Amino acid sequence: MINRPALGLSGAALRDRNVKIDRRENQSCARCGKGIWENGSRHHRKYKSRGGGDEVSNGVLLCGSGTTGCHGWAHHHPDLARQAGFAVNSWEDPALVPVRLYLAGGRPVYLDEEGGWSTEPPVAPEPTGSAA
Ligand SMILES: [Zn+2]
Repeated sequence: MINRPALGLSGAALRDRNVKIDRRENQSCARCGKGIWENGSRHHRKYKSRGGGDEVSNGVLLCGSGTTGCHGWAHHHPDLARQAGFAVNSWEDPALVPVRLYLAGGRPVYLDEEGGWSTEPPVAPEPTGSAA
């Protein structure tokens, strides 16, 4: 169980994060593969209302908006979206919940913070000294 405060980015840091996500998806929808040069949106897999943040692992580029396209699908079909990893529960860490990326052939893959993905789950990080 990982508890960490939601990451909130703005300005250049947010643009950086968005670039990493868009590059990872090859500027196409993470779910259906449709090319997105405009009108796409970055979906928070763990919704902000569930405590999700702006981590790269928590973001996917989807076609449509919060109500249309695959972005709308993710919000309208929470159970299916969870099965495919496009939705993450409040008690889960997005980095540890695989998502069925179109670019990965629909295989479940784990997203990292650098804009990469892997079929292998991430290795637990080294402890970083005393807990705050
Ligand atoms: Zn789509």
